[in-house]
Amino acid sequence: MTRHTLVMASFLMETHVMGAGPTGCMVALALAHQNQRVVLFDPQNSKALAARSRAYAITHSSRRLMQRLGVWDELRKDLVAFEQLDLRDLAAGRQVLFVSDDLAEKNRGHHGIGWILDHRPLMTALLQRLQESALVQLHLGGEAAPIPSPDSLVIAADGPSSPTRESWGIGCWQHRYRQGCLTAKVVLRGVQANQACELFRPEGPLAVLPLGNDHFQVVWSAPMQRCQDRSALPPSEFLDQLAGILPQGIDPDLLLDQPKAFPQQWMLARRLSRGRGVLVGEAGHRCHPVGGQGLNLCWRDVDVLVKSVQKGGTAKRIAARYGRQRWIDLILVGTATDLLVRCFSNRIGLLVVFRRIALQLLKQSRGLRQVSLRAMTDGPLQIGQALPD
Ligand SMILES: Cc1cc2nc3c(=O)[nH]c(=O)nc-3n(C[C@H](O)[C@H](O)[C@H](O)COP(=O)(O)OP(=O)(O)OC[C@H]3O[C@@H](n4cnc5c(N)ncnc54)[C@H](O)[C@@H]3O)c2cc1C
Repeated sequence: MTRHTLVMASFLMETHVMGAGPTGCMVALALAHQNQRVVLFDPQNSKALAARSRAYAITHSSRRLMQRLGVWDELRKDLVAFEQLDLRDLAAGRQVLFVSDDLAEKNRGHHGIGWILDHRPLMTALLQRLQESALVQLHLGGEAAPIPSPDSLVIAADGPSSPTRESWGIGCWQHRYRQGCLTAKVVLRGVQANQACELFRPEGPLAVLPLGNDHFQVVWSAPMQRCQDRSALPPSEFLDQLAGILPQGIDPDLLLDQPKAFPQQWMLARRLSRGRGVLVGEAGHRCHPVGGQGLNLCWRDVDVLVKSVQKGGTAKRIAARYGRQRWIDLILVGTATDLLVRCFSNRIGLLVVFRRIALQLLKQSRGLRQVSLRAMTDGPLQIGQALPD
């Protein structure tokens, strides 16, 4: 087959996406953008898909994908930029402030180290774009979808307990953290509206993410039972407990939603492709929410899969190529988040001394801040690489 016929073959290919969460919707949109026909299936209807109370930290790697797909400008009003990232280790008594100048030069013009985006506007915009696309067939709310033809690429984007992954017989390496995490939306005083905070505490990290004005999302890690107990507290007691652990000068005023506790795990599927099937997003991997990497890592899967489709070939070849290319990023980010949680969630004397030295170096060295921010926001594989425009 010539290169031309291979490209034509991939043009005519129909792709089936199982799962319309933020990863499944993004991959369906990205493939339709490449003139692929897509069948997207999810047992939940569009109302339920948009209903999750969660906010995502969006990095520059995700910004680039959203811009390429034309959803960035549409969501611009909902993206809350943060221009400072305040990182503190409360047990070691050290603080590092990352500012926009610590970004790679090409990222600096975009007015944000990162952005916070609420689940609802994100899903509403993605589902709307998919509904409008003539290339996408949506089968939501459990509506039966056609069976994929034998040459279709099948994408499992059906979340961490992926029934599709199970049915393909793909096992996982996994580790369940003792820590769980609790998410809640609150009104806070004493934090700048353009600032995100990651506070390392002995019971686990606490992220404070700006949602606009004085609204913030807290992602509060602690032993799972404690998260569950806190999620069941009356609002005034919950706010008292939060006030007790926030640094001096930051005060919670109001609880805006019902706090929810989640178990946390690191998980990596033993393979990311089987035959003409691939695992994307949390169907293939999961990491601790420290550093807000989760969804960005899922969307880098989308980026690599679409590039593999662009290169052409049979569905099997596209799947195998994707499976080979994703390992390093997933292992590096999974390992980095795991090490961060293990090293920083304690008061062990030697580790506290190590953290004090490491954070002091980070505070003093702009080069170190640039390298760590580059890994967080563009992905570790981009360190030392030229960024695309
Ligand atoms: C508490 C918490 C805080 C987080 N904070 C952040 C953050 O700040 N930044 C960030 O980037 N990430 C964060 N994450 C991670 C982020 O939520 C996930 O990375 C993201 O939801 C993964 O999206 P997904 O589409 O892969 O999976 P999911 O969102 O789980 O979607 C899976 C979809 O598959 C569907 N499905 C299930 N079974 C089937 C089936 N049999 N067939 C078809 N479809 C099916 C489900 O209905 C669902 O719609 C956080 C996670 C948690 C738990």
